[in-house]
Amino acid sequence: MKVLVVGGGGREHALVWKLKQSPRVKEIFCAPGNAGIASLARCVPIGAEDISGLVAFARQEKIDLTVVGPEGPLTMGIVDSFNEAGLAIFGPTARAAAIEGSKVLAKELMAKYDIPTARFAAFSDAGEAAAYIRKLNAPCVLKADGLAAGKGVIVCRTVEEALGAVEDIMVKGVFGAAGSRVVVEEYLTGQEVSILAFTDGETVIPMLPAQDHKQVYDGDRGPNTGGMGAYAPAPVCTPEVYQTALEKILIPTVRAMAAEGRPYRGVLYAGLMVTDEGPRVLEFNARFGDPEAQPVLMLLETDLVEVIEAVLSGRLAEKEIRWQPGAAVCVVLASGGYPGPYRKGYPISGLDRVPSDVLVFHAGTALEDGRVVTAGGRVLGVTAAAETIAAAIEKAYAAVEQIHFEGMHYRRDIGRKALM
Ligand code: AMP
Repeated sequence: MKVLVVGGGGREHALVWKLKQSPRVKEIFCAPGNAGIASLARCVPIGAEDISGLVAFARQEKIDLTVVGPEGPLTMGIVDSFNEAGLAIFGPTARAAAIEGSKVLAKELMAKYDIPTARFAAFSDAGEAAAYIRKLNAPCVLKADGLAAGKGVIVCRTVEEALGAVEDIMVKGVFGAAGSRVVVEEYLTGQEVSILAFTDGETVIPMLPAQDHKQVYDGDRGPNTGGMGAYAPAPVCTPEVYQTALEKILIPTVRAMAAEGRPYRGVLYAGLMVTDEGPRVLEFNARFGDPEAQPVLMLLETDLVEVIEAVLSGRLAEKEIRWQPGAAVCVVLASGGYPGPYRKGYPISGLDRVPSDVLVFHAGTALEDGRVVTAGGRVLGVTAAAETIAAAIEKAYAAVEQIHFEGMHYRRDIGRKALM
């Protein structure tokens, strides 16, 4: 089989790593990939959102299966274009990926089908949004409707802050068209957990629950990032939370999407807040999370190609998905300044000193004169598995100690919540 992975971050490195282990895979390509992916796959210089370029490449190379990492090409309809060209591809169509592409659509779906989520209202008028905020009071959460690279959600401590955010998003247009509509919602408290699931549109099989660390500093302080680390399985997802999430959230959502004429196939990611009243949906994503994909895929025992084939043929119900016992932890090493402005091009040293059973997934790296250099905000995801979460944390951080680049920073408390 010839496989193409679309994207070029840590998630795609983990996907390539996992897919490559399948005895079914003969050759693997990644578009555009990165310096780490290049050691496992042939990287081709086609952007993840260049859909016609990717279709042409898949045709020309006779690719048997394409797996899409990021949300951009999914919401733009890469799956529809591949399907029209008769090419096999794993992921939701544009109409289905809209569950991530439009927060208003996702919230209205949840309201219509009684899927537990924060109380909310949606607005396309700044004055009406402001009036609602005054009524709802603070704290509250403001969400730009469209994709905003993970920055479109603003947790507001005061009414003034929320009104300022409405001004920024709806009047000044800091997120462009993504902010022409907003969701204002109730602030929820609890611990967050991400449950990703495989679905063929009918059967839903959740993966191990994971916990991301969005804020840049230890103790969940500082601004939000794309994710500073993750671990799985997350003990906050007790068997009871898991069962509720499956029965009240994941399965009803897949059914609702089908009923709305948006049949969903691929990975459905539910970002949940475990509140005193049970799990509530914060957001849906239409793909693997990054960094969650890194520890989760490291623990996946079953051949991923087989799982994907079961999804594509509508036979997921017949598939058993097995997980390695124990836990995995991914610590993200970021560029100095990230999530604000940062510089790129710093050489990375020590990658050769990392023990072979620790995986260093590359997120933002490039090759320059044969050297691996930094090329993004999130640079590496150092990922380790062990029998316990404590041992996995220790192993991951011991490997982190070996790696260095100018300005490198990372959180020192990834996975700590699992120990409490
Ligand atoms: P989202 O992209 O919707 O998951 O939002 C990003 C982050 O904002 C989440 O991971 C939460 O930390 C926070 N957040 C979003 N919605 C809420 C909410 N209703 N209450 C509290 N925190 C929230």
